[in-house]
Amino acid sequence: MNTMKAQGTEREFEQEDLDDPVEAARLVKRQALAFGADAVGIGNIERWEGSPLQMDPRQIMPECKSIIGMVFRVMRGSMRGIEEGTFFSNYSAMGYGGLTYLYMPMTVINLSKFIEDRGYEAIPMGHQSDWRAIDNLGNIRKDYSRPVAPGRAAPDIMVQLRIAAYLCGLGEIGFSKMFLSSQFGPRNRVGLVLTDVKLEPDPIYDGPQLCNKCMACVKACPGGCIKKDKTIKVNLAGKEVEWSDLDMIKCDDTFKGGVRLENEIPENERYVKGDKSFGRGSWTPFNEKPKNLYNTGQAVCGAAGCTRACMISLESRGVLKNKFKDKFRRRKQWKVDWSKDPYPAAYEAPYKIKDASDAD
Ligand code: SF4
Ligand code: SF4
Repeated sequence: MNTMKAQGTEREFEQEDLDDPVEAARLVKRQALAFGADAVGIGNIERWEGSPLQMDPRQIMPECKSIIGMVFRVMRGSMRGIEEGTFFSNYSAMGYGGLTYLYMPMTVINLSKFIEDRGYEAIPMGHQSDWRAIDNLGNIRKDYSRPVAPGRAAPDIMVQLRIAAYLCGLGEIGFSKMFLSSQFGPRNRVGLVLTDVKLEPDPIYDGPQLCNKCMACVKACPGGCIKKDKTIKVNLAGKEVEWSDLDMIKCDDTFKGGVRLENEIPENERYVKGDKSFGRGSWTPFNEKPKNLYNTGQAVCGAAGCTRACMISLESRGVLKNKFKDKFRRRKQWKVDWSKDPYPAAYEAPYKIKDASDAD
């Protein structure tokens, strides 16, 4: 134990040391939960053996010994407004952007400070993949960046968060390619801390089976992006894991509220974004993608397949730890018919503004 005392109001740097892997793991997990994570697990770096170069955390921190994975729940209530067809922004703001770009960074930064206060290095990581050198399909982005030395990855590396959560023992990867935690199923964001502290790892998840290949995600994805018959198999820490060969390009379009058109369709069922024509699907009431919220705001597909349908399936089987008094789906699902005029709004302004100068 370092006995040097802090002076004045500065931070203290001399609390418990982290030299014993079992005790250090206990302390780090306790802090992660106290800082706001909903679940925490630890993977030893050896589990990343065989990672593709552009996804290998050792390319960022060659001395990395442990990766701390944290699950942050998306509130079930954040999907209620989508389920009712009246309030989409909460999922994009609180369930997506705010959670991803505000809440989670605070937790991973605070946990990293906790470790660095005790003399070890820690890298706080969340969704910061906009700088990555690979595209959505895993290919190198042409003319984007170059390796700084032979054998090194081109910047930026992208550590795969879903795979990291799996390797930290936090749950399974579902057929949908979504990470499924044992608490919340697909309702998660994942944050990481890479560190040179040696921490006792958790076993790979071996609890009740989460994904039973029910295919509810396949049926409900509005873009038809989750392929039923084409899968990808990978070996993760000695275990074979299989998921659908998700059509990432289609998912990206559908996620933002449109289906890219291959054939002509009537004018009123189409909108144009850039030089591309998109179809308005029955699953979105928006004329076009709304504005971003907290740097995102594109989840206009309402995560109907990979998240809502999957969650309903997992909850109905009783395999998730976060249980609710009432089932999520309580009414028949809505659909928008873009070929007809809109329903008249059941709404009248509660007051009349006399002229524009009365408005805020
Ligand atoms: S909906 Fe069913 S098949 Fe799809 S990921 Fe969830 S549990 Fe697996
Ligand atoms: S994000 Fe939307 S479009 Fe993409 S797989 Fe999930 S439900 Fe389908």
